[in-house]
Amino acid sequence: MITEIRNGTVIAWNGTEHFVIDPGVVVFSGNEITFVGANFDGYSDSIIDATGRIVMPGLINCHLHVTDTPFTQGYLEDIGDKGPAGSATNLVSLYKVLPEVRHATDPNAQVAAAECAFAELARTGSTTVVELGYDYEIGGNGDISATERVAEVAGRLGLRCYSGPRYRTRHYGQNSDGSIFYKDYPNKGRSRFDVCAEFCEQWNGRFDDRLRTMLAPGQVDTCDAELLKETRRIGDSLKIPIQLHAGQSPNEFRRVGKTEERTTVEYLEECGLLGPDFIIGHGQIMSGDGDMYSMASHEVAVLRDSETTICHLPWVKARRGGVINSIQKYKDLGIRQSLGTDTFPFDLFNDMRMAAVVCKIVEHAADAAPSEDVFAMATTGGANALGRADLGRLAPGCRADIVLVRVDTPKAAPVYDPFKFLVLSANGEDVDRVIVDGTTIVKDGTLQTLDVPAAVHRLNEASKRVWKRLDL
Ligand SMILES: [Zn+2]
Repeated sequence: MITEIRNGTVIAWNGTEHFVIDPGVVVFSGNEITFVGANFDGYSDSIIDATGRIVMPGLINCHLHVTDTPFTQGYLEDIGDKGPAGSATNLVSLYKVLPEVRHATDPNAQVAAAECAFAELARTGSTTVVELGYDYEIGGNGDISATERVAEVAGRLGLRCYSGPRYRTRHYGQNSDGSIFYKDYPNKGRSRFDVCAEFCEQWNGRFDDRLRTMLAPGQVDTCDAELLKETRRIGDSLKIPIQLHAGQSPNEFRRVGKTEERTTVEYLEECGLLGPDFIIGHGQIMSGDGDMYSMASHEVAVLRDSETTICHLPWVKARRGGVINSIQKYKDLGIRQSLGTDTFPFDLFNDMRMAAVVCKIVEHAADAAPSEDVFAMATTGGANALGRADLGRLAPGCRADIVLVRVDTPKAAPVYDPFKFLVLSANGEDVDRVIVDGTTIVKDGTLQTLDVPAAVHRLNEASKRVWKRLDL
């Protein structure tokens, strides 16, 4: 089956960067792109008319959690707390509210949440989603069944998904005086680690290879060195990527310094994690003051030369009163970057805009974080981190993961520069059609692979029992 998408403004790939062909043609056969250019005179079985549409690569949403997010909505925002000196620490949402909300969920509620989250991800143009599961917090000592059910939802909806069930040595929480405690799991979480590794081996490549797996140790301050070194060993043997939460808070940076007698980057290097297949989720506080230029030169060099990727989550950071300082600095230091939504809303257009604007504010410079750079973070940046030269770009040989965005609207016209429109003006509601692996899963702005009203009903029913259990 050969399909030709014609008459659109095409964001094509020249091997180094995205560029515009207007009007352009994209042709795919089965799940593979076979032609991108200005004129196509070959045969096609069907034609998609993209008049009034930008035709772009599907977005790579490199870090998110689908199972708890809807239940944190309304609990997690607009709250902060103060340290002993009276300054804001903003620890309470991360160390207290989030764990409590997660404990209030149950496996069926998690699956109901995942359905709606995946539906929103697909609807808003994220064709590849990296889901980091947390069912270790409620699933007991090693239960992996919730992870399996969630992976099946992603597969059923037609998304390309990387599933990373998390494990860790210890958990954390907040004491009533505001201080943070850490407590080891029985057997330091090793039985959970074993089932996660087994899941990664058995599920990698399912759903016609749209489902891939990832090793996901919890956070840099909740994993001991032995667990992280074992993670690297298993990651190398299974040839799958690894993602770890790090750089989330000043508390975390101080904790690593105290327990490991190293900086966060030095600890990750010591554990052998850094590399082109390794993603640092968050990456906001990688130095004592959160300024990238405060990192020692050997830390910068090892992050850059190892080709480690930082996955930024600008909307969640901003909502909690923080900023990444800054994505322009990361770029100037030569460190690879990608983008994710982390939680709600799951609209990566929102995070592209936040990434750009927050950086301009931090740098006091309108020309910081130009749209082409931010668009690359949300496409090739994520694809490269996953080791996927066949994703995040429109070129022959790549997977047919293609998104059409409406520009025949008052807000879009005139489109002089598609990158600036996509990053600084568009949002997920402008997405018209989403094609993953050659199959259309969103048409005329409507998800084709799920009864969405029924899924919303299931989530609302689940939320009633989750909220009943919460006493915050
Ligand atoms: Zn996260």
